[in-house]
Amino acid sequence: MDCLFCKIINREIPADIVYEDDEVLAFKDIDPQAPTHMLVIPKRHIATLNDIEERDLSLVGRLPQTAAKLAKEQGFADEGYRVVMNCNENGGQTVYHIHMHLMGGRRFTWPAG
Ligand code: AMP
Ligand code: ZN
Repeated sequence: MDCLFCKIINREIPADIVYEDDEVLAFKDIDPQAPTHMLVIPKRHIATLNDIEERDLSLVGRLPQTAAKLAKEQGFADEGYRVVMNCNENGGQTVYHIHMHLMGGRRFTWPAG
């Protein structure tokens, strides 16, 4: 499958991996938008939020759980952080394997741009 994030999972292209277990992988974003910017992805390929099925629900729940765990471990959970999932063109999705952005270390504005 010609998917950038599946290639990272399969170690076909390098990434700065910060967490891995049987179901999810987290690695540093190559173009960070905050002092800390990581991506948390399921190891199962799911292209967009629109493609999540009933059987994926517990797996998808691991994304915010892992993001919060990483934020705690890296010491910015209490001060706060931003998680984002972009969907399709209007949402700004550029990689079609769902991922949760975890950004910390600065104050974020709302509404999102
Ligand atoms: P999105 O625009 O929500 O689909 O986010 C895709 C993210 O993947 C962007 O923040 C990119 O900077 C990031 N990205 C693209 N290629 C890589 C890569 N090889 N390693 C790490 N992050 C990447
Ligand atoms: Zn994939």
